[in-house]
Amino acid sequence: MRSKLAIVFALLFILSCKVERPIEIESVNFEFIELEKGVYSCIHKFGGKAICNVGIVDNGKETIVFDSFLSPDVAEELLEALNEMNLSPVKYVVNSHFHNDHIRGNQVFSEAVKIISTARTSEIIEEEEPLQIAYEKENAPARLAYYDSLYKSFSGDTKSREYQQILMWKPYYEILSNSHLKVKTRVPDMFVDSIHNIDGPDRRIQLISKGQGHTESDLVLYLPDDDIIFTGDLVFNECHPYVPHGNISKWKAWLDFMNSLNVKTVMPGHGELSTETLITTMKNYLVDLENMAVELHEKDLSDISFDSIPLPVKYKDWWFDRFYSSNLRFAYEIINSNGTE
Ligand SMILES: [Zn+2]
Repeated sequence: MRSKLAIVFALLFILSCKVERPIEIESVNFEFIELEKGVYSCIHKFGGKAICNVGIVDNGKETIVFDSFLSPDVAEELLEALNEMNLSPVKYVVNSHFHNDHIRGNQVFSEAVKIISTARTSEIIEEEEPLQIAYEKENAPARLAYYDSLYKSFSGDTKSREYQQILMWKPYYEILSNSHLKVKTRVPDMFVDSIHNIDGPDRRIQLISKGQGHTESDLVLYLPDDDIIFTGDLVFNECHPYVPHGNISKWKAWLDFMNSLNVKTVMPGHGELSTETLITTMKNYLVDLENMAVELHEKDLSDISFDSIPLPVKYKDWWFDRFYSSNLRFAYEIINSNGTE
């Protein structure tokens, strides 16, 4: 009897130790997931305001945050949570590429924190952010009003895809309409254009750039000791990527490289965590897009309505489906210009 009680107390002790682990971060905007001790993912929650996924790595000496959300408010929420945890000091924030949903939380980190990107991404942020913000000020309120009216007048099944689409886009336009008074563009001040190691006593961290892919210049974070990669928007999960800012053939080469790393966990820029098979899925999407563009080119049509081309069946349930026609037009224009050279 005494030994049974001892086991019960031992179990209770173990359980109480687990409960005390400071990773129970509750947020309506992101799900906080521990991948390994010192490696975490914040996965955007449907209907929340994180918009992109963020990764956190503590190498035992310093902590690195990979991407910084669209909303400075959500980045602040993350920063407060990190301060509650027993992590090494945050020393670096990485911007995987220039898109607004990956960079606008930069401003909440102290001046002592270095913001890392490729040199080209930093230039693009400096050039494009003022234009992008001006465009959003002009256009986002009307988009918000549109989604708001759909939301208020919706009377169908709230589990339907139609309703979920409203829940997905409404917070995005809310942020773009309401955060501009707060947004202060913070341009990266440390550059990585090939490989940079940030190693500590607990693990090795590699930042790797191979240039163009999803954009003119992309950067990933690879953990060789943990077999984990944070891909930024070079990989999406169950979402159409936005292709026209990138280079399809170089993007495919990026994916081949990432596949060669044999990782066990992939954190995409958008969508749920996955295994390395997600990298192949992304490559297949790009190959399918190119094949469809070649097919259209061979038909030699004088005028193509890309908006009316149906989604391929295997991608019909992916989110961000409105990107498909732009992606196909972009792929077609490349094939077309190569074909007429
Ligand atoms: Zn992007």
